[in-house]
Amino acid sequence: MADVTEHELIVVGGGPGGYAAAFLAADKGMTATLVDEADRLGGTCLRIGCIPSKALLHTAKLITDARDSARFGVQFGEPKIDVAGVRKHWLKVVETLSGGLATLAKKRNVKVIKARARFADGQTLELSDGSRHRFKHCILATGSVPARPGPLKLESPRVMTSTEALQLEGVPGSLVVVGGGYIGLELGYVYAALGCPVTVVEMTPGLLPGVDRDLVKPLHDRLNGLFKRISLNTQVTKLEEDRKGIRVHLEGAEVEEASPVFDRVLVAVGRRPNSQGLGLENTRVQIDGKGFVQVNEQRRTAEEKIFAIGDVAGEPMLAHKATYEGKVAVEAILGEPAVMDNRAVPAVVFTDPEIAWAGLTETEAKKAGREVEVTRYPWAASGRAESLGRTEGLTKLIVEPETEQVLGVGIVGVDAGEMIGEAMLAIEMGASARDLSLTMHAHPTLSETILGAAEVLHGTATDLYRPKKKR
Ligand code: FAD
Ligand code: NAD
Repeated sequence: MADVTEHELIVVGGGPGGYAAAFLAADKGMTATLVDEADRLGGTCLRIGCIPSKALLHTAKLITDARDSARFGVQFGEPKIDVAGVRKHWLKVVETLSGGLATLAKKRNVKVIKARARFADGQTLELSDGSRHRFKHCILATGSVPARPGPLKLESPRVMTSTEALQLEGVPGSLVVVGGGYIGLELGYVYAALGCPVTVVEMTPGLLPGVDRDLVKPLHDRLNGLFKRISLNTQVTKLEEDRKGIRVHLEGAEVEEASPVFDRVLVAVGRRPNSQGLGLENTRVQIDGKGFVQVNEQRRTAEEKIFAIGDVAGEPMLAHKATYEGKVAVEAILGEPAVMDNRAVPAVVFTDPEIAWAGLTETEAKKAGREVEVTRYPWAASGRAESLGRTEGLTKLIVEPETEQVLGVGIVGVDAGEMIGEAMLAIEMGASARDLSLTMHAHPTLSETILGAAEVLHGTATDLYRPKKKR
């Protein structure tokens, strides 16, 4: 049997959860080792997720903005798209950032091992290179993988998950996107901007289920003009290889053609936690019915020495939530009084327009029967939005009626994702709507709509006549 190397901390998984945890541990004086089976650090987010998709979305926005430019008095010709050049851009971004992570690991003396890890027991890891490692503490950060439920399992080069879709082999003759969630809309937008006829099939009655409908509407309206078709209340029951592509069998009230053929299929129906094949059965770590590792408020599992963070430890599956949890786990290991006591997790859909929200949503408040006051500021009253020609946006606050404390913020519009930081700070600091309206916002900016929404609550919005409602 191989010799056993002793470790103070081993982090399994080098994504935004894992590398943030290993780096913080090193900054705080621990000796940390990071194990990842991939060639580069950065995890799903950097290699095949957040970053490549946002690089592609930037290209897509350039194209759609250029197409829209005539109304600003500037005309460009039809874009000549060099798919290899588009791919080269995102590959370069990933290379730069992952190179940066490798340098940061080196500077901090974080040892990086490229191997697949598996638990032999509650304090020992076996790596695919044959080595064995005993740890005082371990943080599991193995992330998630695309879900491929039964009817969507067809193995074919024409059937893609986000991983293959990001590779951008070319612009397909037609694309059906199964799932109108984050990935379906972001990557659907990219392919549509590149000139591919895109059909989105979503099984629920609306795009982005769970998100407030008034935030989704402006995006849906714009996507109606960009996508060939958006089919709601529609389910894919089977995928079949056909001579000309993939035959997609559809079921639902809005189905016009029961089994159309598409050149390519993008399956984007969610992700599942990467908790299989890790030898967790050799430990006391518990897994729930969906495959998420069970953790407490410090992200400790039922096995005292093992913590779990990020996508593998529960929803929402977002990079910044993984990073935050990684930091809590490290501080807990060090005996600091750290717990997941955040009030909100921000969420951004990076389409055009973007949708961003944080804290309590109107939908959640209604579902819980919680009394809240909702105050809306339409971007038609924003000088900045008017000058950008993008007045379809909306900023809304969800406020506690007695104290006027800001419980949630929802925004749809260009750059909504950049505006959600202010909302997060307000929610975390327990700010009231009055605090927001008393905070000077630069003019003319889209962020003024946050101030405006707060003023609407008091019936005093300068650029909007909305007298205060009598209670
Ligand atoms: P991951 O980033 O998944 O990293 C896990 C790492 O563990 C991987 O590198 C893997 O190689 C390694 N690993 C797994 N098993 C083993 C093993 N047994 N041994 C060794 N190594 C192992 N989130 C956002 O917040 N914003 C976005 O804009 C965004 N865009 C996205 C776009 C796409 C297309 C996708 C797919 C996801 C996107 N996400 C986004 C989600 C985000 O990528 C994840 O929430 C985030 O990566 C989770 O981080 P993590 O550290 O938990 O795991
Ligand atoms: P998702 O959960 O966001 O959306 C999946 C969609 O597919 C849902 O609308 C669901 O109703 C629909 N669906 C499920 N089964 C279906 C079927 N058989 N037929 C038709 N529709 C079906 O999942 P995703 O888009 O795959 O993304 C996975 C996760 O990755 C996200 O939940 C998010 O956590 C993360 N992500 C985040 C970002 C971001 O932060 N901007 C971007 C991409 C991915």
